[in-house]
Amino acid sequence: MTTVREESLRCPRCSCVFLATGLASYGFAGKDTDGRPFFWGLNPLPFFVKTCPECDFSAFSADFSLETRLSSRQEASLPAPQKYLKAAFCYDELGNIIQAARCYQHAGWLFEDEKEEGKAHKCYRDASSRYLEIAEKEENLEYLFLGGECARKAGDIEMAREIFDDILQRPLLPPELKELVFKSRSNL
Ligand SMILES: [Zn+2]
Repeated sequence: MTTVREESLRCPRCSCVFLATGLASYGFAGKDTDGRPFFWGLNPLPFFVKTCPECDFSAFSADFSLETRLSSRQEASLPAPQKYLKAAFCYDELGNIIQAARCYQHAGWLFEDEKEEGKAHKCYRDASSRYLEIAEKEENLEYLFLGGECARKAGDIEMAREIFDDILQRPLLPPELKELVFKSRSNL
């Protein structure tokens, strides 16, 4: 069950202290093939990222520091997908490609919920290219798979198929990953 609480955060970029809605608890039962958790109750996704009301810096909550001092400032009021897009931009600037990929993917999920297919596809494409970049740099098959999953969700079916087939030819493929790849490939 998702429960929220008010928390006081300090922006790492401009030191502004502001109040935001944080998560006290949340839970999920299983995950989709692309890693999206099936959350119980209220969707907690909008509360994972924060936007500074002073300088617009946006990131996952863990990249802000918790403060005990309360502030009269409130977090910047933005729709959740826009917060994720801003956070993706900030992570790109910081050279944190994996967090940028996650933010684009999360924005894709939220746009999908809002039936904004075109915007969701663009986010998935932006997530896919970043996952693939990291996958190549770190020779990481899980990121390669996520690159394929995001390509699949962006509607780039041929690209997704090529990636899944590539993974299935790799030696010493972990059984759980193999199962996920088969499942996603059957959804093409
Ligand atoms: Zn700031």
